[in-house]
Amino acid sequence: MLIESMYDYRFEQPKAIMVDKCSLCSEEIFTGDQYYNFNGEVICEDCLSEYTGYFKKEA
Ligand SMILES: [Zn+2]
Repeated sequence: MLIESMYDYRFEQPKAIMVDKCSLCSEEIFTGDQYYNFNGEVICEDCLSEYTGYFKKEA
């Protein structure tokens, strides 16, 4: 039931076009999605904390 309604939802969004892919998890990013672009490196919202962790430094 839940899976079916999610499937239908996707089909009702004909304007959702894949614009990019997350550099970490390869998740596809569609128009309307929020994502991050760090100097050309595309990161989805789910990977943001993992990605920024690589840049974390202790002074
Ligand atoms: Zn990701």
